[in-house]
Amino acid sequence: MNPANEGAAEAGTLYIVPTPIGNLSDLSPRALRVLDGVDVVAAEDTRTTGAMLSHFGIRARLTALHEHNESQVVGSLLARLAEAHSVALVSDAGTPLISDPGYRLVDAVRDAGHPVVALPGPCAAVAALSAAGLPSDAFSFFGFPPPKASARRDWLQAHAHWPHTMVMYESSHRIQGLADDLGRVFGRERRVALSREISKRFEEHWRGEASALSGWLAEDENRLRGEFVVMIAPGAPPDPAEAIDRLLKPLLRELEPSRAARVVASALGERRNTVYRRAMELAGDAPPAAKE
Ligand code: SAM
Repeated sequence: MNPANEGAAEAGTLYIVPTPIGNLSDLSPRALRVLDGVDVVAAEDTRTTGAMLSHFGIRARLTALHEHNESQVVGSLLARLAEAHSVALVSDAGTPLISDPGYRLVDAVRDAGHPVVALPGPCAAVAALSAAGLPSDAFSFFGFPPPKASARRDWLQAHAHWPHTMVMYESSHRIQGLADDLGRVFGRERRVALSREISKRFEEHWRGEASALSGWLAEDENRLRGEFVVMIAPGAPPDPAEAIDRLLKPLLRELEPSRAARVVASALGERRNTVYRRAMELAGDAPPAAKE
């Protein structure tokens, strides 16, 4: 430890330390001091973090904490905190816990009453959102979308009216599939934005209509390389008549119109009479409702 960093970490405290997502200069001076000063660094991959720390001349005591061993490692880290050791948690890149391991550890440490200190720092989702120029007063982070095409399309469809900007991660082998589905589901009606390789040499930020993303990616095979954040602009609120029909139609196959209307009116907070009138209209075309 650099003697200047002695005392940079408080005893018995867990530090959440974001690390660079591409540019090593993004490791903050405070993060360096903490990583040098703690008794142990819990890292998603000890080799990746070891290499990064040695670049900065830090020889930390590393222990592995990843998706597959987190539950087992939590106990030993809690014991260390109870012995007044300080611990830093890092992932391979960016902010721990954000589509990365660490949730179980932080949950247990908070439950045990040990202090947790969060250092602000690199996070691909936040960096991408800050450059997208999409509404950012409220946004929702979804991690990775479903990997399989049919599930992904259903998932996008289910979020057609999501009222905030949607932010998600995607890997290079699925980005084209996601872009194709964005075009299919949202066409020209939604704006989307994509950031790739943030803080690296080929950093790029694109935005346009959902239907244009797939073509833009296909124009240059280099655009399919690297790491991606995809953002979708907020959807328009659903048309109440559409929402009523969407629920009423399947219910009318099972229930009398008056009963179906009661259920739908209460689920959507709509007036019962309005929904009943529509239920009667629809029932005119629908097969007779089954008797209860
Ligand atoms: N914890 C990290 C964070 O705070 O951003 C995210 C870890 S997650 C396992 C990895 C994903 O983050 C990548 O697949 C990619 O979608 C996104 N990502 C990471 N670094 C990125 C970068 N430099 N540019 C764009 N996206 C990046």
